[in-house]
Amino acid sequence: MSASALAALCARIEAAARGRNVTLIAVSKTRAAGEIRALAAAGQRAFGENYVQEALAKQRELSDPALEWHMIGPLQSNKCHEVARHFDWLQSLDRAKLIEPLDRARPDDRPPLNVLIEVNLGGEASKSGCRPDEIAGLAARIAAASRLELRGLMAIPAPHPDPAVRRAAFARLRGLFETLRAAHPGIDTLSMGMSDDFELAIEEGATMVRIGTALFGKRNPRPGTRESKGRNGAPEP
Ligand SMILES: *Cc1c(COP(=O)(O)O)cnc(C)c1O
Repeated sequence: MSASALAALCARIEAAARGRNVTLIAVSKTRAAGEIRALAAAGQRAFGENYVQEALAKQRELSDPALEWHMIGPLQSNKCHEVARHFDWLQSLDRAKLIEPLDRARPDDRPPLNVLIEVNLGGEASKSGCRPDEIAGLAARIAAASRLELRGLMAIPAPHPDPAVRRAAFARLRGLFETLRAAHPGIDTLSMGMSDDFELAIEEGATMVRIGTALFGKRNPRPGTRESKGRNGAPEP
């Protein structure tokens, strides 16, 4: 990765956004701490990781309080404690069971953990995510938790050769986001769009995109996981 790759990507995001603000999350799973440091030196602040242990090792190595960390991978209950203590955002909350342990473990001396509900429209690339009809109930419980801050929705629509099909999925997500915002006017984040489709996602209303490959180049498979097969990686052991 180079500063010019970041600048070129930011220019594409800006062109698609037509004056709206769209936040770039640099997805740094499988990337070394040194690659993150180089991107941070070029001005990138927010990084997304899928695996808690891998992220914590890099956070320790970098020890840079200016960086903002987003957990974007499937979350197991036994990892809630570490996510609440060491991340700024959780983008992949998809079941009620996670809410209480996250709220309890969030340290009082940190701002509330920003939370996105991950929604699965069906037939998605990822097995994770709640059904659309579960969003409202989850949102109410997150909003009631004092150490969590509901910020919006995240999704990983399945890749599809037909851009019209992908666009329709993004538009549906935008609709779900607007419905949720009617009940929770404070939410401001719709996280959708990856390397292959972020411009479409932005055109359909994404406020945050999560990009790995287009920034860092192709990923090497992460040893011992199904990362090479699934876009969302495998759950941690
Ligand atoms: C890996 C991953 C991304 C980035 O994917 P690219 O295609 O490399 O841009 C985005 N979001 C999630 C949840 C991911 O797991």
